[in-house]
Amino acid sequence: MTFKELGLIEPILKALAEQGYEKPSPIQEKAIPPALAGRDVLGCAQTGTGKTCAFATPILQELSARKSQGRPIRTLILTPTRELALQIQESFEAYGRHLPLRSAVIFGGVGQAPQVDKLKRGVDILVATPGRLMDLQGQGFIDLSKLEIFVLDEADRMLDMGFIHDVRRILKLLPSRKQTLFFSATMPPEVMELVNTLLKNPVKVAV
Ligand code: AMP
Repeated sequence: MTFKELGLIEPILKALAEQGYEKPSPIQEKAIPPALAGRDVLGCAQTGTGKTCAFATPILQELSARKSQGRPIRTLILTPTRELALQIQESFEAYGRHLPLRSAVIFGGVGQAPQVDKLKRGVDILVATPGRLMDLQGQGFIDLSKLEIFVLDEADRMLDMGFIHDVRRILKLLPSRKQTLFFSATMPPEVMELVNTLLKNPVKVAV
């Protein structure tokens, strides 16, 4: 199987080749086609499996294929830690380097001014940790009403780290009509509860 056979477009194929990726990993083979088709995806996969590319490439492709008015936040990726948030945004920058989409990353523990400046200039793709997202949203810097695609990354870790209340508050800010891509290494009952409230007829993918 090749990335081209998964249905990815040339600007993304070129970027993946430039990253030195030769062929898709199992999670990418299984998750990219349904995600590109607009389906909700429930992915049971750990870090290291290539799951970031599995959700980032279809998102980049879908956003670049659809017109948008102004520059609203069109995709939100929620992830538990600053390290993961930074890595995910770097991946979007790398895979999307031949596409005209902008991304930003926000997380706590650092000054908010540079993050706010970036948001004010407009971003298509926002990668965030829950606390800083709620904080900046509360200050009026973040409008999620035009969201098209939502990613919940490392859901089990998010719950272990005590972010469940923030996550639930964030879910209430999202439009009900959206595509959701949900990833967790394990699927304990609390995670399944979130899955059941959030996902619509998901394609289940495990590696
Ligand atoms: P992730 O599981 O998303 O954190 O990715 C783990 C690592 O694998 C990252 O360093 C990626 O750059 C790399 N990677 C992801 N997909 C591929 C691929 N298809 N070929 C080679 N490396 C990859």
